[in-house]
Amino acid sequence: RLEIRNLTRTFEGKTVVDDVSLSILPGHVTCLLGPSGCGKSTTLRMIAGVDMQSTGEIYVDGKLVCDTIFRVPPERRSIGLMFQDFALFPHLSVAQNVAFGLKGDKSENRERVEQLLDRVGLLHYIDAFPHELSGGEQQRVALARALAPRPRVMLMDEPFSGLDNRLRDGIRDETLSLLKEEGTSVLLVTHEPEEAMRMADEIALMRDGRIVQRGAPYNIYNAPADKAAVAFFSDIN
Ligand code: ATP
Ligand code: MG
Repeated sequence: RLEIRNLTRTFEGKTVVDDVSLSILPGHVTCLLGPSGCGKSTTLRMIAGVDMQSTGEIYVDGKLVCDTIFRVPPERRSIGLMFQDFALFPHLSVAQNVAFGLKGDKSENRERVEQLLDRVGLLHYIDAFPHELSGGEQQRVALARALAPRPRVMLMDEPFSGLDNRLRDGIRDETLSLLKEEGTSVLLVTHEPEEAMRMADEIALMRDGRIVQRGAPYNIYNAPADKAAVAFFSDIN
């Protein structure tokens, strides 16, 4: 479970994330949806721990991981990351990529790697190198790598935008079912309403650093809070 309370980020007097609060249950996907520059990636960076909020708190499974004084380092937050340009390590095999974040027992790790690669349908590529895989296959390996340490929370920033349309739908669906099986709380950033409608349990509509509306995709689509939200959704169909 991920919980953020009153997160605010100010850069040189300019507030780019403004009092954002969210709570995401295990196995649920919340889409942070909004136009370019509204503060989506900045929000994710604070949760990941690579940027520090000006005010507010972040909790994972009820434990404080960060406020303005106390700070758990990124690698100890039980948070997985998947970004569009978060590439595989080219000099490591598929197996080594997936095992990268794993500590401890070698044979247990191998089991986890095989389990995940099997799950994404790429077990036969276990000893291959990234350049031997298609973009979609690399993306699935990246998903397996992010999930290998069993993170409680997964942060995804436009992870599918580098893929062509034909591949994208399949990978979206596959990613979603794997994340649900693992019981991960997911925060997915996108500026595409269509992607949010397809993947979210809940949509949080963001504009100018603030969350202006939250709800089930169907409800937001049918009753956008204001004219800007209507305009934003009008490019679906
Ligand atoms: P996009 O959809 O284009 O990725 P976004 O919603 O992810 O947009 P952010 O990257 O969070 O937007 O940026 C929000 C605002 O914060 C932008 O105006 C950006 O210029 C500003 N910003 C982000 N990082 C910094 C920084 N390190 N210093 C100053 N301003 C910043
Ligand atoms: Mg961004």
